[in-house]
Amino acid sequence: MIEHVIDGIRWIPGRDKFLPDSHVYVIGKPESHEITLIDCGLMEMGSYKLEALEQSNTSLEDVKRIILTHTHMDHIGCLRELLEALPGAELWVHESEASYLERGDSRIVFGNRMFESMIKSQYVLKDDSFTFRVDRKLQGGETIELGGIEMEILHLPGHSCGSIGLYSKSHRLLISGDTIYADGAIGRYDLFSADAAALKVSLEFIASLDIDVLLPCHNRIVRSGANPMIANTVRQWAPILSD
Ligand SMILES: [Zn+2]
Ligand SMILES: [Zn+2]
Repeated sequence: MIEHVIDGIRWIPGRDKFLPDSHVYVIGKPESHEITLIDCGLMEMGSYKLEALEQSNTSLEDVKRIILTHTHMDHIGCLRELLEALPGAELWVHESEASYLERGDSRIVFGNRMFESMIKSQYVLKDDSFTFRVDRKLQGGETIELGGIEMEILHLPGHSCGSIGLYSKSHRLLISGDTIYADGAIGRYDLFSADAAALKVSLEFIASLDIDVLLPCHNRIVRSGANPMIANTVRQWAPILSD
């Protein structure tokens, strides 16, 4: 199932099981034949997303890149599965997490030892399951054109060191990864490479933006009027993150 958000941005809702599966955002106007996927999902959760693309008449050959908001396993788990089906797709990741992927350091992917042992007991993983070459290392501040949609890359460290958001000023729309969700929730800040103080700064930056449409990578999306909800969320969390 693929759902319309605005012209040129669609989403494939994640299918959480005993672990979460991230949503995938599909960016690019159909006539551009240049499609970008934001995030992938948990291990073994790629095929239904590929089917959703094909059923919506999106040619897999048109998928030019996958951008990860960050490299936790519920976002990167089926990256290999997707890249194998999308031979024309590049991988773009923020530079501070790209370096982990390229040297095969999976500490950010798993987040902590408990998750690592749980995942390894549930899935067959190879030593290089989370080793990837990154085609473009993002820094934050770039303005990029994705199939007719102009977006700015925001570096939003805190939930993880290389978390990013994608912001469209003209559409007043933010793809927020796991930094902030709808309904007062924010991303956890206890996993490897997380930083509560940095998360506070990132949230306050988000609250300074004009955002009508909030597209987080889990739970519901906010189709309009997100600004006051975001302001409330940040106001509630800022003192907790300062402790
Ligand atoms: Zn995450
Ligand atoms: Zn997540």
